Amino acid sequence: MIFGCHLSIKDGYLGAAKQAYSMNAGAFQYFPKNPRSLSVKDFNHHDAALCKAFCKEKSILSVSHSPYPTSLTPINEQKRNQVIQSLLNDLEISEACGSIGVVVHFGKEVSHLPLLESYQLIIEMLNEILSEWEGNAKILLENNPGLPGTFGTTLEELVQVRKLCEAPEKIGFCFDTCHAFSCGLWDGENVGILLEKGTELGYLDELKVVHFNNSKYDTRLGKDRHAPIFGPGYIRETQFDQLVKSPQFANIPFILETPKEEIPHEKEIQLLQEKWGDHLS
Ligand SMILES: [Zn+2]
Repeated sequence: MIFGCHLSIKDGYLGAAKQAYSMNAGAFQYFPKNPRSLSVKDFNHHDAALCKAFCKEKSILSVSHSPYPTSLTPINEQKRNQVIQSLLNDLEISEACGSIGVVVHFGKEVSHLPLLESYQLIIEMLNEILSEWEGNAKILLENNPGLPGTFGTTLEELVQVRKLCEAPEKIGFCFDTCHAFSCGLWDGENVGILLEKGTELGYLDELKVVHFNNSKYDTRLGKDRHAPIFGPGYIRETQFDQLVKSPQFANIPFILETPKEEIPHEKEIQLLQEKWGDHLS
């Protein structure tokens, strides 16, 4: 299995890759730039190229995560343009670093619009961004947390939005286990239904990364509070075991976004590898 975690780029992109290697991680995630801003970053191409070469040599996979203010349902024209420019910049950085793509949250329901127009807005945003993008790095749409039925929490929505875009081949998916648990998409007991539906809809064919998190709250409460995989979280070890061992998840990087103050990521990755094997086995 391929396990890794989110890492800082305080020592550059190569620095993050080297840290992943030193932790024996098979993958890592990073913010391509300041996570609190949508400003376009004039990034260090040399550092990015070194990251790409290092990861290739060491067989380490990477994905980037778009900054927090990134929204596929922006509230006004100014924000819309900022998000488009920022995501194109994220894609460029991801490409230069040799990453699979950039993780982007699905978008939120715009309260003053009819529901369908919120989906329409996401599709327009993706079309506008991807019409200007020719690289291999993909946009990786992440499932939302929330109460059951909340916008962006179902496989149907993710698959349908992708399908309705002009360039679906430039879009993949990121499955966050805590988000899925929060809304009951995966409640720990329905892995069979999840896999069946994921296969039928074609979701699993486009799944590129898993955000591997336990949950501090029980399922269907709509809470997005990540917990370490092994410990007092509500998703049990046997339930994780069913998911991790499904053949559909075999070659997908599992990225921890768990609270590292509670257990260091290096230690947590080691525990995951002891249980499920590492990328070298
Ligand atoms: Zn996530």
